[in-house]
Amino acid sequence: MDAIRAESLVKEFGQTRALDQASIAIEKGELFFLLGASGCGKTTLLRCIAGLEIPDSGRVVYGDRDVTKLPTHKREAAMVFQSYALWPHMSVGENVAFGLEERKVPRKEINERVDEALAMVHLEGYYDRRIDHMSGGQQQRVALARALVVRPKCLLLDEPLSNLDAKLRLEMRREIRRIVKDNNLTGVYVTHDQEEALSMADRMAVLDAGRVVQMGTPDAIYRNPTSSHVAGFIGETNLIEATVDRIVRDDDELGLRVSSDFGEFHGRITRKGWRPSEGTKVLVSIRPEALHADNSGVPINRVRGQIKDRMYLGSNIQYRVHGAGDHLWSITETNPHIIRENGEEIVLTADPIDVTILKA
Ligand code: ATP
Repeated sequence: MDAIRAESLVKEFGQTRALDQASIAIEKGELFFLLGASGCGKTTLLRCIAGLEIPDSGRVVYGDRDVTKLPTHKREAAMVFQSYALWPHMSVGENVAFGLEERKVPRKEINERVDEALAMVHLEGYYDRRIDHMSGGQQQRVALARALVVRPKCLLLDEPLSNLDAKLRLEMRREIRRIVKDNNLTGVYVTHDQEEALSMADRMAVLDAGRVVQMGTPDAIYRNPTSSHVAGFIGETNLIEATVDRIVRDDDELGLRVSSDFGEFHGRITRKGWRPSEGTKVLVSIRPEALHADNSGVPINRVRGQIKDRMYLGSNIQYRVHGAGDHLWSITETNPHIIRENGEEIVLTADPIDVTILKA
């Protein structure tokens, strides 16, 4: 395994700047996710890390080796593609062996290593099965075995689960994490599925327009987004405009009192070094699950409205609440004991720790 760094990568395709000074630092043995909206540059960044694309400027470093211009097979990295790129007319074993044959590895060693790779993905005994007689999930495992057989230090995965049905996707999330960890690999994984990233990643980077806008653990990014873009992209959130009234607390985390069309809010700042002064226009972000019904009469962090509609999901229920100025609030109640009717009045509140104040 190797640490991987991408330093200030720029990559343009004609008029399109796919990467714009993108930098990431991935630690040895980490499963790291690249996440962002379609076209934000995550595949281009992965391809630069893989050696399938050479950046116009910037460096890619594995451990202490500058690999920016090295071809993929000299980087000790293996890539798993969304399409799997398997040969349907060949057997499972032949597909997995292919990379080793190209490298002129002796036959006996090829056989041992193919068996070892098939065991890693729990496909022992499938050597002779034709690819087109394997299920989608099994084909995914063959694609993983083919990557693992070259004994890479880094495993690069480009939307590897998007061709699988929902149940298999869940199962393969655990499998891919196990394979990366059991084999001491450094994994870099591209997806636009935020739930996949939150549930699998050690850390992740969120990209926007070719730039890395935030990097951190899943819970740090979910709980402490530093921009409205990240707050809205990772999970759902309620965003409202407000104006800073005063600073409440100035230690590690800055507390702010802000006023809005919906009343006063008390929340915290997550963006390091940002010190908005009184009168600054800001955005208030509150996750749907952070709002709950409350009749205690506390005057701040309060939202009043009427239930507009609901979606019952068993473990939770999601309501849309019509608030002042026709604003629609999303709220989620977990383990719901009662189901509220449309039109019902509701008063909601959020703990200040769950209220994030962001740059407008
Ligand atoms: P998606 O989630 O849709 O796959 P992405 O975040 O992976 O998107 P990229 O595939 O990296 O985004 O593309 C970033 C930008 O660069 C897009 O505007 C895309 O159209 C452009 N782009 C990527 N590859 C090429 C190419 N080979 N030729 C021209 N433009 C390209």
